[in-house]
Amino acid sequence: MNAPLMPTTSLVSFGLQGEVAPGVLWLRLPLPFKPEDHINVWLLEDGEGFVLVDTGLADAESRLLWEAAQNSALGGRPIKRVFVTHHHPDHIGLAAWFATHHGAAIHLPAREAELARRLLGVQDDAALKARYAAHGMPVEADFVELRHRFYREHVAALPDEIFSVEDEARFVIGGVEWIALLAGGHTPAHLLLHCPARQLLIAGDHILPEIVTNIGALSFDPDATPVADYFASLERLARLPADTLVLPAHGLPFHGLQARSEALAAIHHEHLARVLAATAHADTVWGLLPHIYGREMTGLAALLAFNQTKAYLDHLVAQRRVLSEQDAAGIVRYRPFLAD
Ligand SMILES: [Zn+2]
Repeated sequence: MNAPLMPTTSLVSFGLQGEVAPGVLWLRLPLPFKPEDHINVWLLEDGEGFVLVDTGLADAESRLLWEAAQNSALGGRPIKRVFVTHHHPDHIGLAAWFATHHGAAIHLPAREAELARRLLGVQDDAALKARYAAHGMPVEADFVELRHRFYREHVAALPDEIFSVEDEARFVIGGVEWIALLAGGHTPAHLLLHCPARQLLIAGDHILPEIVTNIGALSFDPDATPVADYFASLERLARLPADTLVLPAHGLPFHGLQARSEALAAIHHEHLARVLAATAHADTVWGLLPHIYGREMTGLAALLAFNQTKAYLDHLVAQRRVLSEQDAAGIVRYRPFLAD
C-alpha cells in the first residue's frame, strides 16, 4: 500500500501537489475568497488520458494553471471526462472550457445541472427577492443580485451537453471501479465518488476536514429537507470502510470519516439549538441572524447565513420545536413551540 502524500503544513501552494494514491493526482487552484482560498481537484489516470473531478473557477489564473499542468503533470495527455460534484462556481466553473478545449464529456447529477442553468439564466429575480423580503431581508439589500452576478462572472458558460449521474452509478476509471454517491444538504444532489478498491472517497464540499459544510442552498424549495438529508448522508458516509482516505475540495486529505461525520452532525445539532434559542429574541430569518452569528451580516456571507438559518428553521418546524406563520403583511414569523 502506498502511503498517501500528506504535507506537514497547510500553507497553500497552487498547481500539482502530488499523487495521493496510485493514478490519483492532486491539484490545487486559487479562489479569491476566504476561508476557502483554494480548491482541490483530482485527476484520475485513465488509459491515454485523465478523468478530472471538479474544475476550479472560470478565471484567467485557473486557466493558466491548467495550461501549465497540461504540459507538465499531464504530459500533454487530454482530459477525457470531467465529473462535477455540484453546481457551485469553483466546482463547475471551467467545465465548458474542458468540453471545448479537451473535448471532455461532462458528468453532473441532473438536479445540479438544472440549478446551474437556472443561476446562469436569471437576470432579474424579482420573485426570489420577494421571498427573501417575506423573511425580513431588507429590500435594499441586493444580495440576491450579488449572488447571480458572482455566478455569471465565475462560471461564464455551461457545456452544451451534460451527462447526468445517478446515485450508485458505477464507472471504471484506470481499471478500478468508482461508485457515485448522491447526497443532499450542501446542495440537493452533491456527487461524491467512492473507490472501494483504492479506499478513496472524493468528497467535494459535502464533508470537509476543517470548515463546517454550509447547509441549505435553495431554502425556498418547498419539498427540500436539506438538514434531514445532510444528517442522513453523514450516517451513510460513516458506514464506509474506516480506512477510507477522504479527498475534500478544501483543506487536506484525511482519514477518520466516521469521526468527522459524527463531529459535523454534533456541530449542526448545536447550531439547531442556537437557532431555537434565538427564536426567543427575534422572529424572522433576517432578524435572527445577528442573534445567531453575533454580528450584522452582509454580502454573500449574509445570503449563506440566511439560507442555512432558514433550513434549520424549516427542520425545527418539521420537528414541531418551532412554529411559523405569515402575518397580515406577508412576513413569515417564527416562535418557539411551547407545549401547554
Ligand atoms: Zn459548494
